[in-house]
Amino acid sequence: MKIHGSGVRRRLTLWYTLALALIVLVFSLSVYVFVKSRLFRQLDQQLDMEFSTIAGELTEDPVDTRELDPDGFTRLFLLVRGNKVLFRSEAYQKAGLPEILPESNEKYRTVLSVSGKRYRSATATTPNGFLLTVALGEEGVRTTIKTLFMILALALPIALALAALGGYVMAGRLLKPVAAMAEKADKIGAENLSERLPVENPEDEFGKLAGVFNRTLARLQDAFERLQRFTADASHELRTPLTALQSVGEVALQENLDVEAYRDCIGSMLEETARLTRLVESLLLLTRADSGRLLLNRKGQNVTAIVEKAVDDMRVMAEEKNQNLSTDLTRDVQANIDEDTLRRAVVNILDNAIKFTPQGGAVAVRLKETKGRIVLEVEDSGSGISPEHREKIFDRFYRVDQGRSRDAGGAGLGLAIAKWAVEANGGRLELESREPHGSTFRIVLMK
Ligand code: ADP
Repeated sequence: MKIHGSGVRRRLTLWYTLALALIVLVFSLSVYVFVKSRLFRQLDQQLDMEFSTIAGELTEDPVDTRELDPDGFTRLFLLVRGNKVLFRSEAYQKAGLPEILPESNEKYRTVLSVSGKRYRSATATTPNGFLLTVALGEEGVRTTIKTLFMILALALPIALALAALGGYVMAGRLLKPVAAMAEKADKIGAENLSERLPVENPEDEFGKLAGVFNRTLARLQDAFERLQRFTADASHELRTPLTALQSVGEVALQENLDVEAYRDCIGSMLEETARLTRLVESLLLLTRADSGRLLLNRKGQNVTAIVEKAVDDMRVMAEEKNQNLSTDLTRDVQANIDEDTLRRAVVNILDNAIKFTPQGGAVAVRLKETKGRIVLEVEDSGSGISPEHREKIFDRFYRVDQGRSRDAGGAGLGLAIAKWAVEANGGRLELESREPHGSTFRIVLMK
Protein backbone atom coordinates (compact mmCIF):
# COMPACT_ATOMS: atom_id res chain seq x y z
CA MET A 1 0.00 0.00 0.00
CA LYS A 2 1.36 3.39 -0.94
CA ILE A 3 0.47 6.51 1.01
CA HIS A 4 2.82 8.97 -0.73
CA GLY A 5 0.95 11.11 -3.24
CA SER A 6 -2.18 9.56 -1.86
CA GLY A 7 -5.72 10.86 -1.99
CA VAL A 8 -5.43 12.16 1.57
CA ARG A 9 -2.43 14.29 0.70
CA ARG A 10 -4.07 15.67 -2.43
CA ARG A 11 -7.35 16.30 -0.67
CA LEU A 12 -5.63 18.05 2.22
CA THR A 13 -3.77 20.32 -0.21
CA LEU A 14 -6.89 20.99 -2.25
CA TRP A 15 -9.04 21.99 0.73
CA TYR A 16 -6.28 24.05 2.21
CA THR A 17 -5.70 25.88 -1.10
CA LEU A 18 -9.41 26.43 -1.65
CA ALA A 19 -9.85 27.88 1.82
CA LEU A 20 -6.82 30.09 1.34
CA ALA A 21 -8.05 31.23 -2.11
CA LEU A 22 -11.36 32.26 -0.59
CA ILE A 23 -9.68 34.21 2.20
CA VAL A 24 -7.21 35.92 -0.12
CA LEU A 25 -9.96 36.75 -2.62
CA VAL A 26 -12.16 38.35 0.01
CA PHE A 27 -9.18 40.21 1.40
CA SER A 28 -8.06 41.48 -2.02
CA LEU A 29 -11.56 42.55 -2.94
CA SER A 30 -11.90 44.48 0.31
CA VAL A 31 -8.56 46.21 -0.22
CA TYR A 32 -9.52 47.07 -3.78
CA VAL A 33 -12.92 48.50 -2.85
CA PHE A 34 -11.49 50.39 0.11
CA VAL A 35 -8.60 51.97 -1.80
CA LYS A 36 -10.85 52.89 -4.73
CA SER A 37 -13.46 54.65 -2.59
CA ARG A 38 -10.72 56.32 -0.57
CA LEU A 39 -9.03 57.74 -3.69
CA PHE A 40 -12.33 59.02 -5.09
CA ARG A 41 -13.18 60.61 -1.77
CA GLN A 42 -9.82 62.39 -1.81
CA LEU A 43 -10.56 63.57 -5.35
CA ASP A 44 -13.97 64.84 -4.21
CA GLN A 45 -12.34 66.70 -1.32
CA GLN A 46 -9.94 68.32 -3.79
CA LEU A 47 -12.96 69.32 -5.90
CA ASP A 48 -14.58 70.84 -2.81
CA MET A 49 -11.51 72.95 -2.19
CA GLU A 50 -11.45 74.12 -5.80
CA PHE A 51 -15.14 74.89 -5.58
CA SER A 52 -14.76 76.99 -2.43
CA THR A 53 -11.81 78.89 -3.83
CA ILE A 54 -13.59 79.78 -7.05
CA ALA A 55 -16.92 80.47 -5.36
CA GLY A 56 -15.15 82.70 -2.85
CA GLU A 57 -13.55 84.76 -5.56
CA LEU A 58 -16.71 85.16 -7.62
CA THR A 59 -18.23 88.62 -7.82
CA GLU A 60 -21.67 89.60 -8.99
CA ASP A 61 -20.24 90.56 -12.38
CA PRO A 62 -19.54 87.48 -14.46
CA VAL A 63 -17.01 89.34 -16.62
CA ASP A 64 -14.58 89.35 -13.68
CA THR A 65 -14.48 85.62 -13.76
CA ARG A 66 -11.56 85.80 -16.19
CA GLU A 67 -9.43 86.86 -13.22
CA LEU A 68 -10.29 83.56 -11.61
CA ASP A 69 -8.38 81.82 -14.33
CA PRO A 70 -5.41 84.07 -15.19
CA ASP A 71 -3.27 81.28 -16.63
CA GLY A 72 -6.16 80.00 -18.68
CA PHE A 73 -5.35 76.37 -18.37
CA THR A 74 -5.04 75.24 -14.80
CA ARG A 75 -8.57 75.35 -13.55
CA LEU A 76 -11.43 73.50 -15.14
CA PHE A 77 -14.70 75.13 -14.36
CA LEU A 78 -18.03 76.17 -15.84
CA LEU A 79 -20.25 78.97 -14.68
CA VAL A 80 -23.96 78.99 -15.45
CA ARG A 81 -26.75 81.36 -14.45
CA GLY A 82 -30.29 80.45 -15.28
CA ASN A 83 -29.86 78.40 -18.42
CA LYS A 84 -27.07 80.54 -19.78
CA VAL A 85 -23.41 79.60 -19.76
CA LEU A 86 -21.59 82.65 -18.38
CA PHE A 87 -18.08 81.35 -18.43
CA ARG A 88 -15.95 78.33 -19.33
CA SER A 89 -12.31 78.25 -18.28
CA GLU A 90 -9.84 77.68 -21.06
CA ALA A 91 -8.74 74.36 -19.64
CA TYR A 92 -12.39 73.32 -19.45
CA GLN A 93 -12.84 74.09 -23.12
CA LYS A 94 -9.58 72.38 -24.09
CA ALA A 95 -10.52 69.26 -22.19
CA GLY A 96 -13.65 69.12 -24.34
CA LEU A 97 -15.99 68.88 -21.38
CA PRO A 98 -19.74 69.37 -22.04
CA GLU A 99 -21.34 72.76 -21.49
CA ILE A 100 -24.61 71.29 -20.41
CA LEU A 101 -24.39 68.56 -17.88
CA PRO A 102 -27.29 66.14 -17.68
CA GLU A 103 -29.72 66.77 -14.81
CA SER A 104 -28.65 65.00 -11.66
CA ASN A 105 -29.22 65.29 -7.95
CA GLU A 106 -25.72 64.15 -7.24
CA LYS A 107 -23.08 66.72 -6.56
CA TYR A 108 -20.15 64.56 -7.63
CA ARG A 109 -20.11 62.55 -10.80
CA THR A 110 -17.89 61.32 -13.55
CA VAL A 111 -18.23 63.02 -16.96
CA LEU A 112 -16.77 62.06 -20.27
CA SER A 113 -14.87 64.54 -22.42
CA VAL A 114 -15.19 64.64 -26.20
CA SER A 115 -11.99 62.57 -26.44
CA GLY A 116 -13.46 59.98 -24.09
CA LYS A 117 -11.40 60.92 -21.04
CA ARG A 118 -13.00 60.71 -17.61
CA TYR A 119 -13.25 63.72 -15.34
CA ARG A 120 -14.62 63.98 -11.86
CA SER A 121 -16.91 66.97 -11.45
CA ALA A 122 -18.69 68.74 -8.64
CA THR A 123 -21.71 70.93 -9.39
CA ALA A 124 -23.43 73.19 -6.88
CA THR A 125 -24.94 76.64 -6.52
CA THR A 126 -22.63 79.34 -5.14
CA PRO A 127 -23.82 81.73 -2.40
CA ASN A 128 -24.38 84.44 -5.03
CA GLY A 129 -26.63 82.26 -7.21
CA PHE A 130 -24.32 80.85 -9.86
CA LEU A 131 -24.36 77.19 -10.83
CA LEU A 132 -20.68 76.34 -10.63
CA THR A 133 -19.14 73.10 -11.97
CA VAL A 134 -15.54 72.32 -11.19
CA ALA A 135 -13.73 69.32 -12.68
CA LEU A 136 -10.53 67.35 -12.16
CA GLY A 137 -9.02 64.58 -14.28
CA GLU A 138 -9.57 61.07 -12.93
CA GLU A 139 -6.65 59.63 -14.82
CA GLY A 140 -4.19 59.62 -11.89
CA VAL A 141 -6.67 57.93 -9.60
CA ARG A 142 -7.69 55.42 -12.25
CA THR A 143 -4.06 54.53 -13.03
CA THR A 144 -3.39 53.90 -9.36
CA ILE A 145 -6.50 51.71 -9.09
CA LYS A 146 -5.61 49.82 -12.23
CA THR A 147 -2.08 49.19 -10.93
CA LEU A 148 -3.48 47.95 -7.64
CA PHE A 149 -5.83 45.64 -9.53
CA MET A 150 -2.98 44.30 -11.62
CA ILE A 151 -0.85 43.67 -8.54
CA LEU A 152 -3.67 41.84 -6.79
CA ALA A 153 -4.65 39.86 -9.89
CA LEU A 154 -1.07 38.76 -10.45
CA ALA A 155 -0.17 38.16 -6.83
CA LEU A 156 -3.24 36.06 -6.08
CA PRO A 157 -2.49 33.08 -8.36
CA ILE A 158 1.23 33.23 -7.56
CA ALA A 159 0.52 33.24 -3.82
CA LEU A 160 -1.96 30.42 -4.21
CA ALA A 161 0.40 28.34 -6.30
CA LEU A 162 3.16 28.81 -3.71
CA ALA A 163 0.74 28.00 -0.88
CA ALA A 164 -0.49 24.88 -2.67
CA LEU A 165 3.06 23.73 -3.23
CA GLY A 166 3.98 24.43 0.38
CA GLY A 167 0.80 22.72 1.56
CA TYR A 168 1.54 19.67 -0.57
CA VAL A 169 5.06 19.39 0.81
CA MET A 170 3.83 19.94 4.38
CA ALA A 171 1.04 17.37 4.00
CA GLY A 172 3.60 14.94 2.63
CA ARG A 173 5.84 15.49 5.64
CA LEU A 174 2.93 15.17 8.05
CA LEU A 175 1.72 11.97 6.44
CA LYS A 176 5.19 10.45 6.30
CA PRO A 177 4.74 8.56 9.60
CA VAL A 178 1.52 7.05 8.23
CA ALA A 179 3.35 5.88 5.13
CA ALA A 180 6.09 4.40 7.29
CA MET A 181 3.50 2.73 9.51
CA ALA A 182 1.63 1.26 6.54
CA GLU A 183 4.85 -0.01 5.00
CA LYS A 184 5.87 -1.67 8.24
CA ALA A 185 2.40 -3.08 8.98
CA ASP A 186 2.35 -4.58 5.51
CA LYS A 187 5.45 -6.60 6.36
CA ILE A 188 4.26 -7.92 9.71
CA GLY A 189 3.02 -11.48 9.57
CA ALA A 190 2.85 -14.59 11.75
CA GLU A 191 6.61 -15.12 11.43
CA ASN A 192 7.61 -11.67 12.72
CA LEU A 193 4.80 -10.72 15.09
CA SER A 194 7.37 -9.37 17.54
CA GLU A 195 8.09 -6.38 15.28
CA ARG A 196 6.39 -3.08 15.96
CA LEU A 197 5.33 -0.02 13.99
CA PRO A 198 7.67 3.00 14.13
CA VAL A 199 6.54 5.74 16.53
CA GLU A 200 8.01 9.14 15.68
CA ASN A 201 6.25 11.13 18.36
CA PRO A 202 4.18 9.18 20.86
CA GLU A 203 2.31 12.35 21.85
CA ASP A 204 0.75 13.26 18.49
CA GLU A 205 -2.27 11.60 16.84
CA PHE A 206 -0.23 9.38 14.54
CA GLY A 207 2.02 8.37 17.42
CA LYS A 208 -1.02 7.44 19.48
CA LEU A 209 -2.45 5.47 16.56
CA ALA A 210 0.83 3.59 16.17
CA GLY A 211 0.78 2.97 19.91
CA VAL A 212 -2.71 1.44 19.68
CA PHE A 213 -1.58 -0.72 16.74
CA ASN A 214 1.49 -1.84 18.65
CA ARG A 215 -0.52 -2.78 21.72
CA THR A 216 -2.89 -4.76 19.47
CA LEU A 217 0.14 -6.46 17.91
CA ALA A 218 1.47 -7.29 21.37
CA ARG A 219 -1.86 -8.91 22.29
CA LEU A 220 -1.91 -10.79 19.00
CA GLN A 221 1.65 -11.95 19.54
CA ASP A 222 0.78 -13.10 23.02
CA ALA A 223 -2.30 -15.00 21.80
CA PHE A 224 -0.35 -16.45 18.91
CA GLU A 225 2.48 -17.63 21.13
CA ARG A 226 0.03 -19.15 23.55
CA LEU A 227 -1.63 -20.97 20.69
CA GLN A 228 1.72 -22.22 19.44
CA ARG A 229 2.64 -23.42 22.91
CA PHE A 230 -0.75 -25.02 23.29
CA THR A 231 -0.41 -26.89 19.99
CA ALA A 232 3.13 -28.02 20.80
CA ASP A 233 2.14 -29.16 24.31
CA ALA A 234 -1.00 -30.87 23.02
CA SER A 235 0.97 -32.76 20.38
CA HIS A 236 3.49 -33.77 22.99
CA GLU A 237 0.78 -35.02 25.34
CA LEU A 238 -0.93 -36.93 22.55
CA ARG A 239 2.30 -38.64 21.59
CA THR A 240 2.78 -40.31 24.97
CA PRO A 241 -0.35 -42.50 24.99
CA LEU A 242 0.04 -43.14 21.26
CA THR A 243 3.61 -44.39 21.76
CA ALA A 244 2.45 -46.55 24.64
CA LEU A 245 -0.34 -48.00 22.49
CA GLN A 246 2.08 -48.73 19.69
CA SER A 247 4.67 -50.48 21.85
CA VAL A 248 2.10 -52.57 23.74
CA GLY A 249 0.61 -53.60 20.39
CA GLU A 250 4.02 -54.46 18.95
CA VAL A 251 4.98 -56.57 21.97
CA ALA A 252 1.66 -58.41 21.75
CA LEU A 253 2.24 -59.18 18.08
CA GLN A 254 5.86 -60.23 18.30
CA GLU A 255 5.68 -62.62 21.20
CA ASN A 256 3.74 -65.78 21.63
CA LEU A 257 1.67 -64.98 24.67
CA ASP A 258 -0.94 -66.86 26.59
CA VAL A 259 -4.51 -65.62 26.77
CA GLU A 260 -3.97 -63.92 30.12
CA ALA A 261 -1.02 -61.93 28.77
CA TYR A 262 -3.05 -60.88 25.73
CA ARG A 263 -5.83 -59.73 28.02
CA ASP A 264 -3.28 -57.66 29.93
CA CYS A 265 -2.05 -56.11 26.69
CA ILE A 266 -5.56 -55.25 25.57
CA GLY A 267 -6.31 -53.91 29.03
CA SER A 268 -3.37 -51.53 28.99
CA MET A 269 -4.18 -50.52 25.43
CA LEU A 270 -7.69 -49.65 26.54
CA GLU A 271 -6.27 -47.67 29.44
CA GLU A 272 -4.16 -45.64 27.04
CA THR A 273 -7.16 -45.15 24.77
CA ALA A 274 -9.20 -43.89 27.72
CA ARG A 275 -6.39 -41.49 28.58
CA LEU A 276 -6.29 -40.34 24.96
CA THR A 277 -10.04 -39.82 24.92
CA ARG A 278 -9.92 -37.77 28.12
CA LEU A 279 -7.11 -35.68 26.71
CA VAL A 280 -8.85 -35.05 23.40
CA GLU A 281 -12.07 -34.12 25.24
CA SER A 282 -10.19 -31.66 27.42
CA LEU A 283 -8.44 -30.14 24.43
CA LEU A 284 -11.70 -29.82 22.58
CA LEU A 285 -13.34 -28.18 25.55
CA LEU A 286 -10.55 -25.63 25.97
CA THR A 287 -10.49 -24.84 22.26
CA ARG A 288 -14.23 -24.29 22.25
CA ALA A 289 -14.00 -22.18 25.39
CA ASP A 290 -11.26 -20.06 23.78
CA SER A 291 -13.25 -19.45 20.64
CA GLY A 292 -16.31 -18.48 22.71
CA ARG A 293 -18.36 -21.16 20.98
CA LEU A 294 -19.35 -22.82 24.26
CA LEU A 295 -22.75 -21.54 25.21
CA LEU A 296 -23.51 -21.91 28.89
CA ASN A 297 -27.00 -22.47 30.14
CA ARG A 298 -26.95 -20.62 33.44
CA LYS A 299 -30.07 -20.98 35.54
CA GLY A 300 -31.08 -21.58 39.16
CA GLN A 301 -29.50 -24.87 40.25
CA ASN A 302 -29.11 -26.81 43.48
CA VAL A 303 -25.35 -26.57 44.09
CA THR A 304 -25.53 -28.96 47.05
CA ALA A 305 -26.94 -31.70 44.82
CA ILE A 306 -24.26 -31.14 42.17
CA VAL A 307 -21.45 -31.35 44.77
CA GLU A 308 -22.98 -34.44 46.41
CA LYS A 309 -23.16 -36.22 43.06
CA ALA A 310 -19.55 -35.32 42.23
CA VAL A 311 -18.33 -36.57 45.63
CA ASP A 312 -20.24 -39.84 45.21
CA ASP A 313 -18.66 -40.38 41.80
CA MET A 314 -15.18 -39.93 43.24
CA ARG A 315 -15.71 -42.00 46.37
CA VAL A 316 -14.45 -45.23 44.77
CA MET A 317 -11.16 -43.53 43.91
CA ALA A 318 -10.71 -42.32 47.49
CA GLU A 319 -11.59 -45.73 48.88
CA GLU A 320 -8.99 -47.37 46.68
CA LYS A 321 -6.43 -45.20 48.46
CA ASN A 322 -7.97 -45.71 51.87
CA GLN A 323 -8.61 -42.00 52.15
CA ASN A 324 -11.20 -40.42 54.35
CA LEU A 325 -13.47 -38.39 52.02
CA SER A 326 -15.71 -36.34 54.29
CA THR A 327 -18.38 -33.76 53.48
CA ASP A 328 -19.96 -30.87 55.32
CA LEU A 329 -22.51 -29.41 52.91
CA THR A 330 -25.14 -26.77 53.62
CA ARG A 331 -28.46 -28.05 52.35
CA ASP A 332 -30.18 -26.73 49.25
CA VAL A 333 -27.75 -24.03 48.25
CA GLN A 334 -29.12 -22.39 45.11
CA ALA A 335 -27.12 -20.49 42.51
CA ASN A 336 -27.43 -19.29 38.96
CA ILE A 337 -24.98 -21.59 37.19
CA ASP A 338 -24.44 -23.96 34.30
CA GLU A 339 -24.64 -27.44 35.82
CA ASP A 340 -22.20 -29.24 33.49
CA THR A 341 -19.36 -26.74 33.73
CA LEU A 342 -19.61 -26.37 37.51
CA ARG A 343 -19.65 -30.17 37.96
CA ARG A 344 -16.57 -30.40 35.77
CA ALA A 345 -14.73 -27.89 37.98
CA VAL A 346 -15.69 -29.73 41.18
CA VAL A 347 -14.71 -33.12 39.74
CA ASN A 348 -11.33 -31.86 38.52
CA ILE A 349 -10.49 -30.34 41.90
CA LEU A 350 -11.66 -33.42 43.80
CA ASP A 351 -9.77 -35.66 41.39
CA ASN A 352 -6.56 -33.74 42.11
CA ALA A 353 -7.16 -33.77 45.87
CA ILE A 354 -7.45 -37.55 45.85
CA LYS A 355 -4.64 -38.00 43.31
CA PHE A 356 -2.12 -35.85 45.15
CA THR A 357 -2.96 -37.07 48.65
CA PRO A 358 -1.12 -40.19 49.77
CA GLN A 359 -2.70 -43.47 50.87
CA GLY A 360 -4.70 -43.13 54.08
CA GLY A 361 -4.90 -39.33 53.81
CA ALA A 362 -7.99 -37.17 54.16
CA VAL A 363 -10.05 -35.04 51.79
CA ALA A 364 -12.76 -32.77 53.18
CA VAL A 365 -15.45 -31.05 51.09
CA ARG A 366 -17.33 -28.12 52.60
CA LEU A 367 -20.13 -26.02 51.13
CA LYS A 368 -21.09 -22.81 52.87
CA GLU A 369 -23.44 -20.02 52.04
CA THR A 370 -22.82 -16.52 53.31
CA LYS A 371 -24.37 -13.21 52.37
CA GLY A 372 -24.27 -13.02 48.59
CA ARG A 373 -21.60 -15.71 48.26
CA ILE A 374 -21.37 -19.46 48.00
CA VAL A 375 -18.07 -21.02 49.01
CA LEU A 376 -17.04 -24.57 48.18
CA GLU A 377 -13.81 -25.78 49.75
CA VAL A 378 -11.89 -28.94 48.95
CA GLU A 379 -9.20 -29.53 51.54
CA ASP A 380 -6.67 -32.31 51.30
CA SER A 381 -3.84 -33.62 53.44
CA GLY A 382 -1.46 -33.98 50.48
CA SER A 383 1.97 -32.46 50.09
CA GLY A 384 0.66 -28.98 49.31
CA ILE A 385 1.91 -26.68 46.58
CA SER A 386 5.00 -24.53 47.06
CA PRO A 387 4.66 -20.76 46.40
CA GLU A 388 6.61 -20.78 43.13
CA HIS A 389 4.05 -23.15 41.59
CA ARG A 390 0.87 -21.60 42.98
CA GLU A 391 0.17 -19.28 40.07
CA LYS A 392 1.41 -21.61 37.36
CA ILE A 393 -0.63 -24.70 38.26
CA PHE A 394 -3.64 -23.01 36.63
CA ASP A 395 -1.74 -22.77 33.32
CA ARG A 396 -2.38 -25.33 30.63
CA PHE A 397 -0.14 -28.41 30.68
CA TYR A 398 1.61 -27.25 33.84
CA ARG A 399 2.51 -29.98 36.32
CA VAL A 400 4.60 -29.52 39.42
CA ASP A 401 6.24 -32.89 38.98
CA GLN A 402 6.04 -33.73 35.30
CA GLY A 403 6.83 -37.46 35.53
CA ARG A 404 4.81 -38.30 38.63
CA SER A 405 1.69 -36.46 37.58
CA ARG A 406 1.61 -38.06 34.17
CA ASP A 407 1.78 -41.45 35.81
CA ALA A 408 -1.19 -40.33 37.84
CA GLY A 409 -2.99 -39.79 34.55
CA GLY A 410 -3.09 -36.01 34.18
CA ALA A 411 -1.97 -33.86 31.29
CA GLY A 412 -1.96 -30.66 33.33
CA LEU A 413 -5.27 -29.43 31.96
CA GLY A 414 -7.54 -30.18 34.91
CA LEU A 415 -7.04 -26.93 36.82
CA ALA A 416 -7.00 -24.80 33.65
CA ILE A 417 -10.44 -26.21 32.82
CA ALA A 418 -11.64 -25.82 36.42
CA LYS A 419 -10.55 -22.19 36.48
CA TRP A 420 -12.27 -21.45 33.17
CA ALA A 421 -15.43 -23.30 34.33
CA VAL A 422 -15.66 -21.35 37.60
CA GLU A 423 -15.03 -18.01 35.91
CA ALA A 424 -17.56 -18.81 33.19
CA ASN A 425 -20.08 -19.15 36.01
CA GLY A 426 -19.17 -15.72 37.34
CA GLY A 427 -17.01 -17.01 40.20
CA ARG A 428 -13.33 -17.33 41.07
CA LEU A 429 -11.04 -20.16 41.97
CA GLU A 430 -8.61 -19.65 44.87
CA LEU A 431 -5.84 -21.74 46.28
CA GLU A 432 -4.62 -21.83 49.84
CA SER A 433 -1.73 -24.14 50.48
CA ARG A 434 -0.18 -25.09 53.80
CA GLU A 435 2.77 -26.79 52.18
CA PRO A 436 3.81 -29.45 53.15
CA HIS A 437 0.50 -30.11 54.95
CA GLY A 438 -1.97 -30.15 52.11
CA SER A 439 -3.90 -27.54 50.17
CA THR A 440 -7.38 -26.06 49.98
CA PHE A 441 -8.99 -25.17 46.67
CA ARG A 442 -11.86 -22.72 47.04
CA ILE A 443 -14.61 -21.99 44.52
CA VAL A 444 -16.33 -18.70 45.29
CA LEU A 445 -19.62 -18.07 43.48
CA MET A 446 -21.68 -14.90 43.60
CA LYS A 447 -25.36 -15.32 44.27
P1 ADP B 1 -3.19 -32.78 36.27
O1 ADP B 1 -3.78 -33.27 35.06
O2 ADP B 1 -1.72 -33.00 36.37
O3 ADP B 1 -3.92 -33.04 37.50
P2 ADP B 1 -4.00 -30.10 36.87
O4 ADP B 1 -4.08 -28.89 36.01
O5 ADP B 1 -5.23 -30.58 37.46
O6 ADP B 1 -3.27 -31.19 36.03
O7 ADP B 1 -2.98 -29.76 38.00
C1 ADP B 1 -1.76 -29.19 37.70
C2 ADP B 1 -0.72 -29.55 38.74
O8 ADP B 1 -0.99 -28.91 39.98
C3 ADP B 1 -0.67 -30.98 39.04
O9 ADP B 1 0.13 -31.68 38.13
C4 ADP B 1 -0.08 -31.00 40.42
O10 ADP B 1 1.31 -30.92 40.32
C5 ADP B 1 -0.60 -29.71 41.04
N1 ADP B 1 -1.78 -29.96 41.89
C6 ADP B 1 -3.08 -29.83 41.57
N2 ADP B 1 -3.89 -30.10 42.61
C7 ADP B 1 -3.08 -30.43 43.63
C8 ADP B 1 -3.31 -30.82 45.01
N3 ADP B 1 -4.53 -30.92 45.52
N4 ADP B 1 -2.21 -31.05 45.77
C9 ADP B 1 -0.97 -30.95 45.27
N5 ADP B 1 -0.69 -30.57 43.99
C10 ADP B 1 -1.71 -30.33 43.19
